[in-house]
Amino acid sequence: MTSLTTLIDIPTEVYVCENCAHVQSPNLPDVKAFYDTEYKISLQSDDHDQLYETKSGVPIFRTAHQAGLVLDLELPEGANILDFGAAKATTLRAVVEKRPDLVPHVFDVSNDYREHWSEWVADENQATYELPEDWRGRFQAITAHFVIEHVDEPVKILKKLAACLAPGGQLFFSVPDPLGNSGDLLVVDHLNHFTEASLRWALRESGMHVDGICQSSFRGAHCVRATRLPDGELKASEIEKSAELSEAKEKLQWWADVLSRLEDGKNFAIYGAGFYGTLISSRLKARPICFLDRNPHLQGQTHVGRPVLSPEDCPEEVELIYSGLNPDHARAILETQNEWMPAKARISYLAV
Ligand SMILES: [Zn+2]
Repeated sequence: MTSLTTLIDIPTEVYVCENCAHVQSPNLPDVKAFYDTEYKISLQSDDHDQLYETKSGVPIFRTAHQAGLVLDLELPEGANILDFGAAKATTLRAVVEKRPDLVPHVFDVSNDYREHWSEWVADENQATYELPEDWRGRFQAITAHFVIEHVDEPVKILKKLAACLAPGGQLFFSVPDPLGNSGDLLVVDHLNHFTEASLRWALRESGMHVDGICQSSFRGAHCVRATRLPDGELKASEIEKSAELSEAKEKLQWWADVLSRLEDGKNFAIYGAGFYGTLISSRLKARPICFLDRNPHLQGQTHVGRPVLSPEDCPEEVELIYSGLNPDHARAILETQNEWMPAKARISYLAV
């Protein structure tokens, strides 16, 4: 399954590096065509956005949350900022609404987004496919929100980004944390599943200094801040990887066991129309009566041919509900917010 929860008919293979605890998956059959023409994140509608979390019943979306993290960098007045792998660049757009002094630049490996950019980014500050030569040394800030996990040569890309930073410029990027959200290990278009050790390794190889790696500002992700080292300076530092290495191997074994044990139930629904819910549905022979999801953008739509409903609209005939949430948080969420459940229904969790 891809990160956009579409199914591709290839095996899911994952390798773990014994040296730096990096976890890597093989390249997709035709990766260039995939991003150029197939991968249309949030192009469906202008206000489509992924749900980050629900706080006291109020949905908070990913774009707004990411924009807050960029604003926290406190960039200098009039800074040149590049959103690398921008897609529609909704995050950068939200940033410049709050900071109109910043000069936005956007880059992606597809022309699909140009009409969205042209409303608010100057033509000469847009680029596709190749980073322009005259962008070297230009930026006080480069952001890449959930991009580097998709590239087949992360060090090569990080080196290019380092070269585009001005002296003192900051790189801020986020990638999934496969140990905090272990379903990421199974996403086939995430070729890189970074551990903290492998991030430090890749950045050092790219000539960057790590200012911080944080797992608490974006749940399920690493948020990384780095600056470029002066040319020729390489920091030789020991990288601690042993705990992450064994944890990555344990999580992979856990998934292999769980997925081979999944069995069909009768009159069932799946709670969660995102990654985990789709993963469960792909492993079952029967189809669910419906999906249940708290994201208002998904409610009223269909997912893999089945309706997506608000949990409160769960049909009375549902007897079994598969929990299609991150197994590390599923019980905490579903055991406290279950007033909506039909009387005879029970929940089946991935984690026993
Ligand atoms: Zn390695």
